[in-house]
Amino acid sequence: MISYEEFSENCRRLIERVETAAQKSGRARESVKILPVTKTHPIDAALYCSKYGFASVGENRVQEALDKMGKIPPGQSCPEWELIGHLQSNKAKRAVENFSRIQSVDSAKLLRKINAEASSISKIQRVLIQVNAGRDPAKFGVDIEEAPELLAIALECKSISVEGLMTIAPLDSDLKVATACFNNLRNLRDKLQRDFSIALPELSMGMSGDLEAAIGEGSTMIRVGTFLFGSRGA
Ligand SMILES: *Cc1c(COP(=O)(O)O)cnc(C)c1O
Repeated sequence: MISYEEFSENCRRLIERVETAAQKSGRARESVKILPVTKTHPIDAALYCSKYGFASVGENRVQEALDKMGKIPPGQSCPEWELIGHLQSNKAKRAVENFSRIQSVDSAKLLRKINAEASSISKIQRVLIQVNAGRDPAKFGVDIEEAPELLAIALECKSISVEGLMTIAPLDSDLKVATACFNNLRNLRDKLQRDFSIALPELSMGMSGDLEAAIGEGSTMIRVGTFLFGSRGA
C-alpha cells in the first residue's frame, strides 16, 4: 500500500489530467467527478479518500467491500460506497443495505430484486444501468438495443432511482475502440432522455487508461483505481 503522501500526489496529477482533458473539450473541470476505485486494496485506501475529501469510493465485489466496511476504525469517517462490479441477484440484499449507489444494473431480474429489497427497508436505491456499449462479448451490461426496455422496467420500480448509465470499454482495446464505446453510451443516453422525457445526468465512463477519451465524449464520472493506488496486487 502506498503512503498517503504518494496518494495525494497521485490525486494532484489525476486532477491535472482531468483539467487538461476537460479544457480540450470546453468543459468545466467540476463537470467530471472522480470515483476512486479501492478494490483489492486495504481499507486504508478508502480512509485516504475520506481524508482527501472524496465523497465515495468504488468497489466491484460485495463481499470484499463488506469485509472492508467492518474494518473502519471507530470514530473514523469513511466515504460512501458505490458498487461498480457485476452483481448476482442473491447478493442484492447486502448490496442494497450497504451501497449508496449500484452502477452495474443490467437485467430485469436484478432490477426487481433490488426494488424489492430496497422497498423492504424503505430505501430509494440509486442505480446506473450498465450498458455493453462497446459490444464486448466478454463484458456484462445490457445490449444497446435492449436498454430502452430495461429502462422502462426500471422506471416502474418505485424504490429505484435511475440516475444515468455506466459502461466499461472493451478490455485491451485501443483508444479508438474505447472512444467509440463512450460515444455510443453518450448517444444512447441522449436518445433515452428524449424518448422517455427524463433526465439521466450521470455518464459513468473512463478509467485510468482511457479517461481523456471518456471526458471528450461527455463522461460525468471517471472510475480510477491504478492511477491513484498503483497496480493491484503489487
Ligand atoms: C477496476 C475497475 C475500474 C478501475 O480501473 P483502473 O484501470 O484501475 O483505473 C473502473 N471501473 C470498473 C468497473 C472496475 O472494475
